[in-house]
Amino acid sequence: MRPSWGVSYDAQRTLHGGGGRDYRRYVPSVLGAQEIPKAGRGAKNFRLHRESPARVVRLMRRWPLVLLLPLFGCFGAAGYQGAPSDHFDGSKFRNVPAAPQPGFGGFLQWQLQGGAIDWPDWVDTRPSKPDPVAPPHTIRVTFVNHATTLVQIDGVNILTDPVWSERVSPVSFVGPERHKPPGIRFDDLPPIDAVLISHDHHDHCDAVTLKRLSDRFHPRVLAGLGTAAVMESAHVDRATDLDWWGRTPLKNGVEVVFTPAQHWSARGVGDRDQVLWGSFMIVGPSGSVYFAGDTGLGPHFRTIRQRLGAPTVALLPIGAYKPEWFMGPSHMSPSQAVEAHRMLGATTSVAIHWGTFDLADEGQYQPVGELNLALDAARIPHRDFRALENGELFQTAR
Ligand SMILES: [Zn+2]
Repeated sequence: MRPSWGVSYDAQRTLHGGGGRDYRRYVPSVLGAQEIPKAGRGAKNFRLHRESPARVVRLMRRWPLVLLLPLFGCFGAAGYQGAPSDHFDGSKFRNVPAAPQPGFGGFLQWQLQGGAIDWPDWVDTRPSKPDPVAPPHTIRVTFVNHATTLVQIDGVNILTDPVWSERVSPVSFVGPERHKPPGIRFDDLPPIDAVLISHDHHDHCDAVTLKRLSDRFHPRVLAGLGTAAVMESAHVDRATDLDWWGRTPLKNGVEVVFTPAQHWSARGVGDRDQVLWGSFMIVGPSGSVYFAGDTGLGPHFRTIRQRLGAPTVALLPIGAYKPEWFMGPSHMSPSQAVEAHRMLGATTSVAIHWGTFDLADEGQYQPVGELNLALDAARIPHRDFRALENGELFQTAR
């Protein structure tokens, strides 16, 4: 079969995940992405490199936190001081229930086993220019990239885990780099009232972007306990740290609740689990939006629904899940995201955490193909759990 986007068959395989089931059939063409080589980079990555001889370079590109931080002297902030709880032992935060992560040995085993699928250098997408506010009585979500979305609800504009940088890394010259442009140009952003930070990993808590947002819009910044020190060092003010189930009112009757997630935290060396990770429920007169942040599949989805009700819209991660034995405790696979959608009882879910930064072994569009397979298996219509291209929006009916 001739590839539909006029690129080599190898490039198609790279985009959609290669062998096994034919994922390409399940990637909706409405995504409308165009694969092109990034200027000056050439087309050398338009082939599969399953066992690249430059593997070490690739590892460094993906995981600067583990491999490079000691070289650049990036040490984490001092630990959070506060009263112990079921998820804080006095020095470190923990998941409830416990979700043991594979340690450094597991990381090395993953890196040595091979099987990662390379992404094309660059896939171009069309940025959108959002309205200043959503129409009355509707919720609008624009997918920007990775875990970044613009949520517009009841006259309030909220960004989740905003990343506009070229790389998600503590340093600008190495680390995972973007393979798609942001879905909204920074200069086209409407006034931002609040920024939600799910945890301190660099692909969710980008100090450069946060400083730009703070300078331009002076938004409220809501994050987990212990993040204040990170914001201080990034010169970001109006930041509020929340414990799980902590609430903050914004305006127009819109309120934000910080809710649990199953993950971990670290920004540098020696600061593991010293900042609380979590998810958020945004509740307003027009409905509610649940932002899952970065999380493995866990019982917290059921608890959140019991305590706060089923969300109108859920933003659920579907990427960075392969290999599942390594990623499973902290990242959901697409089929697990479908399970989370059901546990939450969300009216509509929107997929996040895929397609822009190459953090794991799957192909760039493979999560979308796997998501649609999982929806078919669960007999859930694709419109109930959508994968948007960078810049596309979803809006609830009035
Ligand atoms: Zn993370």
